[in-house]
Amino acid sequence: MPTAQPRQHIELAIIGGGIAGLWTLRRALLAGYNAVLFEAESLGGVQTLASQGMIHGGLKYALAGLLNPASEAIATMPARWRACLKGTGELNLSGMPIASDRYHLFAESGSLGGLTTFFASRSLRGRIRKLSDQERPASFQGFNGVVYELDDFAIDTEALIARLAHGVEDRLFQLKLDAADVTRTESGFLIQVNGLQLPVDALVNAAGCGTSALAESLAPGFFPMQLRPLHQVMVHTHLPAPLFAHCLTRISRPEPRLTLTTHKASDHDVLYIGGQLATDGVNRSVDEQVTFARRELSDCLPWLNFADARFSTLRIDRAEPKQASGLKPDQAFVAEHQSFVQAWPTKLTLAPDLADRVLALLPPPQGGDVPRLSLPRPSLGRAPWSLQP
Ligand SMILES: Cc1cc2nc3c(=O)[nH]c(=O)nc-3n(C[C@H](O)[C@H](O)[C@H](O)COP(=O)(O)OP(=O)(O)OC[C@H]3O[C@@H](n4cnc5c(N)ncnc54)[C@H](O)[C@@H]3O)c2cc1C
Repeated sequence: MPTAQPRQHIELAIIGGGIAGLWTLRRALLAGYNAVLFEAESLGGVQTLASQGMIHGGLKYALAGLLNPASEAIATMPARWRACLKGTGELNLSGMPIASDRYHLFAESGSLGGLTTFFASRSLRGRIRKLSDQERPASFQGFNGVVYELDDFAIDTEALIARLAHGVEDRLFQLKLDAADVTRTESGFLIQVNGLQLPVDALVNAAGCGTSALAESLAPGFFPMQLRPLHQVMVHTHLPAPLFAHCLTRISRPEPRLTLTTHKASDHDVLYIGGQLATDGVNRSVDEQVTFARRELSDCLPWLNFADARFSTLRIDRAEPKQASGLKPDQAFVAEHQSFVQAWPTKLTLAPDLADRVLALLPPPQGGDVPRLSLPRPSLGRAPWSLQP
């Protein structure tokens, strides 16, 4: 039988312990808010640990040959993250291991068409650079096409989640919040579940795809969601060098043909593949997707041999605000309805921007004591390649 717990006052309750929730929690605590975070399962949750971890300036979205306001907004993000990694940014992530400090674009010679001129244009100066044969990283040894270096990098998502949780454990609680657990009051919300009676001033819904029923009950019709399904591929192999790159060989639409990142499993490398392969692969069965991936790799990465590699796939949805005709949203989504804040970063990269926008919606902080709630702490989640043998 659950025991009644003392009433406490919380200014901000964040639902969801992925990048959006954790980044916002840390920023809110630094700003002086009395904030807590509720996570249903484990931290890093659903999309964040399954992501490719690229912190990018949006160049891959400008592949249509145009820079638009959205791609300009995201362009400032890598510098904000890099400042955090140096210990001079809004959060201190200094010393956190990253997966790769550079990201590359490559294509078979002569297959880039008009993009060659675009990549050389003044508007992209400092964001992309063609590498000479001598400058190419070891992962492109044996490749005859063109290689560019981007000002992007890839983080280790497990390390990131652990770092964001470190030091704020007393603010993290394991609790799955359902629509029936939260009601509106005159001054905000009341969370009532398992004997907990917790008044909160504002709720931030950062639960990815997890709480559409809750959003619908507290802000009916305000924040419709769309799910964009992906069918990612994992290649279990031993690589001569880690590969972090977009393949643009003979692309026919503005999305990389393959988006490649490399991760360490217990005793091997995992080449994790997104891009068109994952987007178009949603309608393929696992066997069809693996067969297709093998063909793509031999066409796009002919200098590497995957004959002995083991393949697996991961189906996962990206949770986003609903767009006309299901298109990709361009920026982080933060909007409020009577102190209920819906937050979808849409990209890991945009977490700093998302937290700015959440904090901008809140009244000034009053602070308060660390809440004592009789709830367990959530554990750290694992990335998909760590979970597979
Ligand atoms: C395959 C893939 C690759 C990607 N690659 C990149 C990339 O390279 N770069 C990039 O910038 N972006 C990338 N993204 C996008 C990025 O991962 C997401 O935008 C971001 O991780 C979303 O974070 P989030 O915190 O909103 O959601 P999530 O990480 O999904 O976290 C939501 C959390 O809420 C919890 N939750 C759900 N329901 C409840 C509930 N009822 N009560 C309490 N908690 C709840 C879940 O357990 C989960 O922990 C990728 C996405 C995918 C799917």
